[in-house]
Amino acid sequence: LRNSAHDAEASARHLIFPLVPREDMDAHGPSILMSGSGVRVTDQHGTTLLDMMSATTRAGSLGYGNREIAQAMYDQAVTMHYSGAGRNTNAAAAELARKLAEITPGRLNRVTFTSGGSEATETALKIAKQYLQQSGRKPRAFKVISRWSAYHGATMGALSCTDWLAVRDVPDPRVPGHSFVANPMRYRNPYGLDEETYSDICIAHLERQILLEDPELVAAFIGEPFQQANGVQIPMPSYWKKVRALCDKYGIVLIMDEVITGFGRAGTWFATEQLGIEPDILNMAKSMGAGYAPIGAVVTRDEIAEGISHFRHVHTYSGHAICCAASLKVIEIMEREKLVENSDVLGREWQQGMKDAFGDHPIVGDIRGRGFWQAVDFTADKASRAAFTDDTVVAIARRARELGVIVGPIGTAIEIAPALIATRDDLALCTRLLRQAISEVALERGL
Ligand code: PLP
Repeated sequence: LRNSAHDAEASARHLIFPLVPREDMDAHGPSILMSGSGVRVTDQHGTTLLDMMSATTRAGSLGYGNREIAQAMYDQAVTMHYSGAGRNTNAAAAELARKLAEITPGRLNRVTFTSGGSEATETALKIAKQYLQQSGRKPRAFKVISRWSAYHGATMGALSCTDWLAVRDVPDPRVPGHSFVANPMRYRNPYGLDEETYSDICIAHLERQILLEDPELVAAFIGEPFQQANGVQIPMPSYWKKVRALCDKYGIVLIMDEVITGFGRAGTWFATEQLGIEPDILNMAKSMGAGYAPIGAVVTRDEIAEGISHFRHVHTYSGHAICCAASLKVIEIMEREKLVENSDVLGREWQQGMKDAFGDHPIVGDIRGRGFWQAVDFTADKASRAAFTDDTVVAIARRARELGVIVGPIGTAIEIAPALIATRDDLALCTRLLRQAISEVALERGL
């Protein structure tokens, strides 16, 4: 392996970098992570940073350099690395399916595996449609409703229920039959309405859309329990119960996309536990493999799995034994180290700490989140809650990185999603550096 920093920089010219505009890439270059330990990483310049984004994607949920997971993967590789697909499976996949049935809520008991979140979305959509067709409940249903600002993945089906402009802006047509409804946001919504009124409008919009599309043709509604767009959107407590009621009324399969929120990120194993409802299908990926293995899963209620007599779908690497072994080890470590409870308890303390440290700064509008998934939403005017229209938020995140901490700008907010092993001291350091970054950028810009 040509792994010196110099070689890596030269070789990186052959990579196509997702999401970063060429201009930005030319100005700042790639960030090549050469090594990591716990929640700290060292880049090609020898700079060590506190990584509060779990390797940018929020997937690296157990930090860097975990030898236990590496060992579990090695052991699996030399015993039964891969068992194929179809009728074949392996003991690690079977055990992981059993374990997921145990840790997901209610009657979510039947599992199929994927290599990531986008594949999980595709798979869930196909399960919903095949269930409705094969069970005879709604043989013609093919339409899917999702929400403004949703992100469900980058492949064509997933992209078709995605409304995040950074990835959506590809030549249409995307997959036909997809439509979007208003998404609940509490701090700032497009019409400046109070949060209760806006939440009711979101529900009314959904029902209107179902009727408009023809309920007999609507197969599924897909949503993230807490949306990521503009930083961790926690809806009104009644919102998801009302969505569930509408799905029941019109026989629509409710798919909960927990690709980000799953596996303890939001202070419970799954964010769905906080919503007081049971979805028909629950998707997960990211933290499931803690970044050590690419793996996702679609977990369905028994009734859905039993309604499908012949599941017409396959991925070559579904249930890959090494990935399943990694995920089983991730669960074991999370249970043993009580990392879900850690995310909940430390997450609350940490949010309060941020509110105390910079909550009353003139450009800080809202600090919100659950567990180890928090966001600081910025405003150019506290009274009207107007968002910045320039690059202030990106500048704060960039300054924070210069000060030694990685956080993630996302629209009007900065998102912070550390590995679940981050300690009180790590969180306090992040708060301190972020406060410094906010003050310095505000001062420089006269805000
Ligand atoms: N769904 C949600 C909610 C996500 O946040 C993501 C990725 O960020 C995906 C799906 C897509 O997952 P992947 O990038 O693993 O394909």
